[in-house]
Amino acid sequence: MTRLVGAACSDVGRVRAINQDSALAQYDLPVFAVADGMGGHRGGEVASALAIEELGTRLGDAARSGRVESVEVLVEAVLAANDRVFEHAVGDPELKGMGTTLVALALVEAGRGIAVGLANVGDSRVYRLADGVLEQLTEDHSLVQGLVRQGQITAAEAAVHPLRNVVTRVIGVEADVDVDWWERPAVPGERYLLCSDGLFNEVSDTRIAATLRLLADPFEAARALVVLANDGGGRDNITCVVVDVVAGEEIPALEPGPTAAVELAADLEPPEPPPLPRPRRFTGRVVAFLVLLVALGALTVVAVRTWAQNAYFVDLGASEHLVIYQGRPDGVLWFDPELVAVTDIEQRDLTPAQLGRLPHQSSSLEEARTWANKLASVPATTSTTVTSTTGAANATQPVPPSTTVAPAIAVAPVVAPAVPTQAANASAPTPGATPSSAPST
Ligand code: MG
Repeated sequence: MTRLVGAACSDVGRVRAINQDSALAQYDLPVFAVADGMGGHRGGEVASALAIEELGTRLGDAARSGRVESVEVLVEAVLAANDRVFEHAVGDPELKGMGTTLVALALVEAGRGIAVGLANVGDSRVYRLADGVLEQLTEDHSLVQGLVRQGQITAAEAAVHPLRNVVTRVIGVEADVDVDWWERPAVPGERYLLCSDGLFNEVSDTRIAATLRLLADPFEAARALVVLANDGGGRDNITCVVVDVVAGEEIPALEPGPTAAVELAADLEPPEPPPLPRPRRFTGRVVAFLVLLVALGALTVVAVRTWAQNAYFVDLGASEHLVIYQGRPDGVLWFDPELVAVTDIEQRDLTPAQLGRLPHQSSSLEEARTWANKLASVPATTSTTVTSTTGAANATQPVPPSTTVAPAIAVAPVVAPAVPTQAANASAPTPGATPSSAPST
């Protein structure tokens, strides 16, 4: 015997305060429905609940036979739901103008066999999944659908149109209403989906189809669709009813009554809100990074200072004597050369050619002192290449031959601050480089 097996899941969504959707999915009743209420802070909730209640009451006899007498009976039940909501709205000023969409599906007698009967008012929808392909069976009674029908906008434009929620036909707003209805073969294996716009405004048909194909259990499928709609934004109430056409044994005799399907929505955990960004703090990793940065900076300063001060050079001092500085002739960063020794060699003792060899860089104080003595003891016209330990830079400097080194000229330690002037020599250190006391030579 062909029968229907279905389940519902409904959720308030992530924006609305109350759920104005209602659903019909009773275990013993081959009738399923979704209603999406509207009107006032309470009207929509009341309208959808009244419509579903009236539909279930009118078609209650189908619980015994397993089918509704005909699709016309299904439509009459929808019209009865319209009467019920309309009369209730007229009788209660607070509920005036309330209404609801309503899509219904039932196993109905059709000739000598059975069929799936469908009825629709509003913009809730019925889809069918057959051979893995999803097809929308109902046509929305909405403003944008009218524009699509007239060719003024495309279906894709309608899906994002700002007025897509404006419905043109609803249950309960007027005393009478036109009901769209269909009768389709009841084919075992086919699956139907009834849903409110809170689903298809958030979830694409492709994802809906994939979910319906993937999850065999009707409730799991309905629940998954609700989760997807919430993930998509959940800007409206979401209600899904998944119904399978199955061929099998008679329905086991169970106590009739509403299934837990509709109420299960309350158990659906609301999606966790996205975590707030954590305030930035000085974590251990950040502190370690800063310490490393400071250490690298300190090491760099030490390295530069060592390189800058690990050298000496001979130059003409402010007193017109040859002097020896520790450091580099032009200084390095903020490490200026320091005067460390003053020789007895005077400027007048040297020829222009000899003076032109200044300043002379040496790797040690003794080497600088020796070079100064050699410079002063050899005529400028006599030059030779000397084997030097100060590096390639000095390898070709003309200096007196080592065999003619004169007795060392006394080199006096600096005992008072020297006051070099810029005029004395362009390469002389700046006054700020002069030490307050010189180291011992
Ligand atoms: Mg809605």
